[in-house]
Amino acid sequence: MSNYLETTPNEEGYFGKFGGSFIPPMLEEPFKDIRTAYEELKNDPKFIEELKYVRKYYQGRPTPISFAKNLTDHCGGAKIYLKREDLNHTGAHKLNHCMAEVILAKYLGKTKVIAETGAGQHGVALATAAAYFGLECEIHMGEVDIEKEHPNVVRMKILGAKIIPATHGLKTLKEAVDSAFESYIPQADTAIYCIGSVVGPHPFPMMVRDFQSVIGFESKEQFFEHEDKLPDNVVACIGGGSNAMGIFAGFIDDKEVNLYGVEPMGRGENIGEHSATLTYGEEGVMHGFNSIMLKDEKGEPAPVYSIGSGIDYPSVGPEQAHLKEIGRTQVGLCNDEEAVDAFYKLSQLEGIIPALESAHAIGYAMKLAKTLPKDKTILVNLSGRGDKDIDFVVDNYPIPNAKF
Ligand SMILES: *Cc1c(COP(=O)(O)O)cnc(C)c1O
Repeated sequence: MSNYLETTPNEEGYFGKFGGSFIPPMLEEPFKDIRTAYEELKNDPKFIEELKYVRKYYQGRPTPISFAKNLTDHCGGAKIYLKREDLNHTGAHKLNHCMAEVILAKYLGKTKVIAETGAGQHGVALATAAAYFGLECEIHMGEVDIEKEHPNVVRMKILGAKIIPATHGLKTLKEAVDSAFESYIPQADTAIYCIGSVVGPHPFPMMVRDFQSVIGFESKEQFFEHEDKLPDNVVACIGGGSNAMGIFAGFIDDKEVNLYGVEPMGRGENIGEHSATLTYGEEGVMHGFNSIMLKDEKGEPAPVYSIGSGIDYPSVGPEQAHLKEIGRTQVGLCNDEEAVDAFYKLSQLEGIIPALESAHAIGYAMKLAKTLPKDKTILVNLSGRGDKDIDFVVDNYPIPNAKF
């Protein structure tokens, strides 16, 4: 087991100065119950067996690592490998933590799971897990996102979830989180809030990281099969930071492996044009935890933007803030244009249509590969598949070399 993972965060949920738990008094008790239940479950052989079972026979794990030979040749530098989280059931890494969160909910005797969703990916994954384990599911989503992400809204409804629109403010992800918290408070006896990334009050950043660490542990073994050594570089996109923490977890104690978290530069450097929190943000508390956040002139969470709707969040998981501060990770940047180029390149050179979020990791890896010699390696976490994004992309960016 990893030294770092065993000892971080501390008892109060702090990763260095980031993290903690800033919640209203009536949530103290339910969150204490969640912490206790997780401490009991994480070493319980029955829980570990159940999780292994669903991962293998339902989710389709382990997901493979593919060598992207054509993309590597195209870039002309370091070898690019892909960890294929797009091949998980529901098409992204999010089921890794949703299945585990719902098992935890059952263990606590809850009958319902509540969550927010931005692009609808976390909502779909949680509705899937709830259906599998027979729990009710309530998903909060901004009115704007409900319009924009219609197919995922329909998916959630088919899966049996109840959708509650968030109608205040910008009517997107931040408002959905506010709405979900508000609804959860009076229902905390029978329901549990299932956070969708390594964010929120302790113990969620730690718990979601632990559930996602399967990506990193599988990767380490699989990469040896390909190259008989560790990767030189690991690259993942960062919204809240869960797919990145998942793959980083496998290599965190291997100091010779460079870890890159890629942030969306959107369409420019001004507030409102990007969502590059670690690059432009400052310390602050939002949604129950202390981290780095993007603030407006009044110190409120700033409006954010990215073409990838799963990565436009004005804060970032506390562990990502900590790892950057201590210099263990580095930040890479990728803007909308580079992400769309990567989206089409991966599709046309490798036959894999990536999620726009994951396309940011690919876009940065392509830039990095070009600066490195051919004997170096880059492992990219391909966090999800792009089916959800195809209409939006082709309506806004013409298909290169299209043949009709
Ligand atoms: C939700 C999502 C992300 C962003 O979330 P993280 O917690 O930063 O991983 C990235 N990629 C895909 C495909 C997603 O669905």
